[in-house]
Amino acid sequence: MVVISGKGGTGKTSIVASFAALAQNAVLADCDVDAADLHLVLQPSIRQTSDFSGGKKASIMTEKCVGCGKCEDVCNFGAVIFKGPANDVCEKTYAIDPISCEGCGVCVHFCTNDAIEFKDAVNGQWFISDTRFGPMVHARLGIAEENSGKLVSLIRKEAKRIAEERKKDLIIVDGSPGIGCPVIASITGADLVLIITEPTLSGKHDLDRIVDLAAGFGIPTLVAINKFDLNADIAGEIEVDVRERNVKAVGKIRYDNVFTKAQIMKCSVVEYTGGAVTEDIKALWRNVTYAF
Ligand code: SF4
Ligand code: SF4
Repeated sequence: MVVISGKGGTGKTSIVASFAALAQNAVLADCDVDAADLHLVLQPSIRQTSDFSGGKKASIMTEKCVGCGKCEDVCNFGAVIFKGPANDVCEKTYAIDPISCEGCGVCVHFCTNDAIEFKDAVNGQWFISDTRFGPMVHARLGIAEENSGKLVSLIRKEAKRIAEERKKDLIIVDGSPGIGCPVIASITGADLVLIITEPTLSGKHDLDRIVDLAAGFGIPTLVAINKFDLNADIAGEIEVDVRERNVKAVGKIRYDNVFTKAQIMKCSVVEYTGGAVTEDIKALWRNVTYAF
C-alpha cells in the first residue's frame, strides 16, 4: 500500500507512522527520499548502510589535461570551468563542477587526451533498519542530487525482498509527493494507493492530478481528507468529485495540533493520544485494510 499526496504538508507521513503502529506484520518503506522524515517518528536502529549510485559523474585528471578547452565547448550544462590547477603543460587547466555535471559523458568522448574520468557517482545512502513496528527501508539523498526515482525503485525492491524473506504480508510505503518520476516509481506495481488530501483549493487541484496519475496505472485508489473540518465545504466538494470518478473517500481526519506534538515527541499520533483524532485514524485504517 502506497500513501501519497499531491504536495507536501498534508500530514501524509504522520498518517503512515500511525498506520505503522496499527499494522501487524508490515514492512515499512520511506520513498519520500527528497524529504525523508518518517525516521524522525519511527527512530530506526540502522542495521545496514549502502551507498546509492544513480549515475556517473565526470572529473578531470589535471596531470593529463593540456588545456585545449574542448570539454568546455561540448558541455551543454556549463559544468566545465577554466580554473583547474596548473600542471607541467599549462598554468591553468580545466575542472568539472560535480553539482552541475549531469553525467552525460560527452566531454569524455571528445577529450583526445583521455584526461577525463567517468565514475559511478555516490548520490546518497540507503538503509535497512529495525523500528518498534518492524523492519524499515529508507534513504538519504545527497544535497542537490537527482535520480530519486531510481532510489525509490531500489527501496521498494528491498522492502519487497524483506517482506518475502520475513513472511510479512503488507508493505506500507510513504510515497513521494507530487506527480513526477519519484511518485511514479513509488506507485508502480502497488496493490493500493491511498491519497491524503486537505480541504483547500490547491489540495483539490493536486488531488485531481494525482487521481489521474493513479488511474493511468490502473491501481485501486482511495482518498482520505485530513483536517477536513478546516473547510467543510471544500471537503464535501472533494467527496463528490472523487465519487464521480469512482474513487472511494474512505476517511476524514479532524484538525488537531497533536499531529505536531506527536512528531516533537517522536511518536505517532495513535501512540501519543487516545483522543478523537486517533479514532479518526483508526477508522481510516479499518476502511483501508477492508479494501485489500
Ligand atoms: S578536453 Fe581534455 S585535455 Fe582538453 S581541456 Fe578538457 S580535459 Fe583538458
Ligand atoms: S559529463 Fe556531460 S555534463 Fe558532465 S561535464 Fe561532461 S559534458 Fe558536462
